[in-house]
This record gives sequence, C-alpha cells and structure tokens, in this order.
Amino acid sequence: MSKTTNVVIVGAGPAGTVCGYLLKKAGQDCVIVDYATFPREKICGGGLTPKAYELLHDLMPNLHYDYQSVKHFRLMMDGKTLCEVDIDKELRMVRRKDFDYAMLKQFLAIGGQLVKSAFSHYEKQKDGKILVTLKSGEQLTCDYLIGADGANSQVRKQLTGQRLSNSLWMERYVKKGPNEFIFEFSNYYKKGYSFSFPNLDWDISGIGGLYASLDDLRSHQSQCANTEEVSMNDSPLRGAFISVETVESGKDHVILIGDAGGFANKLTYEGLYYAIATGRNACNAILRGKSFAITNREIFRKKRKEVWMTSLFYSRLGLMLMKVGAHSPKLIKKAFEMNY
Ligand SMILES: Cc1cc2nc3c(=O)[nH]c(=O)nc-3n(C[C@H](O)[C@H](O)[C@H](O)COP(=O)(O)OP(=O)(O)OC[C@H]3O[C@@H](n4cnc5c(N)ncnc54)[C@H](O)[C@@H]3O)c2cc1C
Repeated sequence: MSKTTNVVIVGAGPAGTVCGYLLKKAGQDCVIVDYATFPREKICGGGLTPKAYELLHDLMPNLHYDYQSVKHFRLMMDGKTLCEVDIDKELRMVRRKDFDYAMLKQFLAIGGQLVKSAFSHYEKQKDGKILVTLKSGEQLTCDYLIGADGANSQVRKQLTGQRLSNSLWMERYVKKGPNEFIFEFSNYYKKGYSFSFPNLDWDISGIGGLYASLDDLRSHQSQCANTEEVSMNDSPLRGAFISVETVESGKDHVILIGDAGGFANKLTYEGLYYAIATGRNACNAILRGKSFAITNREIFRKKRKEVWMTSLFYSRLGLMLMKVGAHSPKLIKKAFEMNY
C-alpha cells in the first residue's frame, strides 16, 4: 500500500526530528521513518555546546531535558596535564536515550507521524515524485526525501554509492569522577584523541579518530591516562562511526543532513550542533523552494575550512603548537570557546 506525503525523513535522531518538527509546524505533511523502538540508545558523549543548546532552544522552545552542567576542562598529552581551563558558558551533558526521545515527542505532539521500519530504497518517478520503499514493504510517495539516518546512512549509500564511516569511536560508561571533561592527545596516536565526559548517572570515557582501526583504539586505550583514571568498572566498550566526509546533496530533492551528510566537525567531532543546524537548513530549503546548497551555504563553507585546519591540527606541528599554547590557558580557553 502506498501513502503520499510532502516529505519523508529517514531517521528520528536530532537531525531528523528537528527537520520534521519545523516542517510540521509550518504545515507540511511529513513522515519520519526509523527502525528503532524509542527510547533507544545512541553511542555518544552527549555533550551539547552552547551554540547547540541555544539553537535548539530557538527552534524547539518547549523542549525540556535533563543534563549535567560542566564548566571545567582539562587538556592532556601522553598522561600529563597540559592545562586546566574554566569556561564561561556551561556544556550540557545529556543522556542521548532520553534526549532524542524528548525531541521526537515534540514532533509527535504537533501531529507528526512516525513509521517504524527500515529504509530500503527510493526511485525517482517520471512525474518528479520520489517513491520510497521500506523494508516492511510499505511505500511512501513524496516530493522530498531527507536522509537523516546517521553515520551508516542507507540513503547516502544509494545517492552517492558511498559507504561512509571514515572515523571510528569507542566508548564505555564509567563510574562518576570529577565534574570536568578531559581531552587527551598523544604523540603516539595522531588519528584523534581520547576523552572523558561527565554525564548524569555515569561518566563516558572513549577514544577514536579518522581511519582508526579497532586495533588502533584497543592498543592506544591503555596508554591514555584519563581512560585508566576513570575506568573503575568493566563496562563493555561500545563502538560507533562518525562520518566527517561531507556530501553536498540536494539535487533531485534528496537531501542528506546530520551524520548522514558527514557534517560533524572534522576537528572536534562535535555532531549534535550540525545535526540540528542542517535539519533546520533542509527545512528552510523545502519551505522556501531554494536549494540546500544555498540554505546550508555557511555550513558547507565551514566544512571546507575544517579540512585544512584538521590536517594541521593532527600533525606533529599541530601537537607541538598545542603544547606551547597550553602555557597560556587564556589562549586555550579562547580557542576552545571559538569552536563552542
Ligand atoms: C563515541 C561518540 C561520541 C560522541 N560524542 C558527541 C558529543 O559529545 N557531542 C556531539 O555534539 N556529538 C557527539 N557525537 C556525534 C553525535 O552522536 C552525532 O553527530 C549525532 O548523533 C548525529 O545525529 P543524527 O540525527 O544525524 O544521527 P543519529 O543520532 O545517528 O540518528 C540516526 C537515526 O536513524 C535511524 N536509522 C539509521 N538507519 C536507518 C534505516 N536504514 N532506516 C530507518 N532508520 C534508520 C537510527 O535508528 C537513528 O535513530 C559522538 C559520536 C560518537 C560515536
């Protein structure tokens, strides 16, 4: 059986629900498809930066969620603290399971429809419409298809032929420690960094990086002081990908947003802000009849800039500069707040 709607969104993570909520509020008929049963887990540090929660507040003013407020961070290299910094605006550390469900409930509360199934494929019809087939066999005909199905996006796979996943991350829940987040870099591991983030009931400790293999992460994990410091229990490691290979989609009314479009920050791997912002920009493209290349222009520009910044940052020179810069916590604070 086939249903007709203006927009089909695949994925009910932050990117999909923001986009769906704004479209629905503007009077568009729109359906979100997700194979998960909500509330569902999502492997993530759960850190919302000020620019992320301020934007979210503008877009979804009635959204309420619990968070742990953190205003202190420690920068480390090879087991040694380089500097400690107090930041002016808090970071909000959320439980993704509850946070994503709270966002989805905003969409449902204004009459949004959620279909529980996996995306299978889409076909462009002669009349310009898009026919979306779900694994359940159900079909949806729409004017726009939004791929918000995360780092292993099947919509992206069909659109570009690319299976993404170019950066692998692992994390585990650990016993609560000091209320500070830790970033640790290493001269022996230049693909990424390890982290420890406080959260509501536990802390989250992890490691990852670009083109990192499972062996890289396992062997490096034991060298990270912050991981050892806080790993007081044996909760299992969980792994997930983040794609930072950005796709400039939007032609033929198929738009990729959030992790599906490879929008996470290439340097820090912050993805929530970009999921929310690209969700809004896709909605604006549809409502204003403009291309996503235009409504998402600023973010595409930022992504191009991040490419060279990242190659400098994760190099011998970049790490050396960080070590020197750490002598001035004010400078580190400024650099940190510029990004956040
Ligand atoms: C270890 C780790 C730590 C992180 N820490 C942070 C952090 O602290 N701060 C931050 O800002 N970002 C962080 N990120 C990145 C952040 O998690 C992502 O950028 C963010 O979740 C992207 O949101 P999204 O809506 O695009 O995708 P997702 O949140 O991945 O949502 C995708 C949705 O699509 C559904 N789906 C997938 N495939 C299909 C399909 N075929 N059919 C139907 N439904 C489908 C899934 O069930 C899911 O609900 C971290 C990521 C990792 C891996």
